[in-house]
Amino acid sequence: MQPYRFRSWLRAQLPQAAAEQIPKGKDCGQGHHEWYLSEDRLWGCYHCVQTTKESPWSSIQWARLRMRAIYTDLAFMAASDLPPGEFHEIRLGYRHELDQLEHVVSSSVAGQGSLPDPELALTS
Ligand SMILES: [Zn+2]
Repeated sequence: MQPYRFRSWLRAQLPQAAAEQIPKGKDCGQGHHEWYLSEDRLWGCYHCVQTTKESPWSSIQWARLRMRAIYTDLAFMAASDLPPGEFHEIRLGYRHELDQLEHVVSSSVAGQGSLPDPELALTS
């Protein structure tokens, strides 16, 4: 069972001032945390106050999560009113990092799951 999920959901629904009155849980328990990188080399759990300095993700998990974050950023930017030149510069900035991430994924596992097609995200 994954504790504290209702609190997390409720915090996400409320205005920030009200959400801050609902504390995170104490400890989800091993195997139940959902980690995010909260600052350099420190991961926090969305649902409880636990943190870790050890990456909770393997390199391939990290690569996939980072790629997903980049594609999400690009999708938001593509739908925004950014000037085309600025959007193009940002896409180029991500291109090198995406190449490295794709290398991590392709050299770690072949054919495990499906990756988003980077050209779709970068050419739309
Ligand atoms: Zn947790």
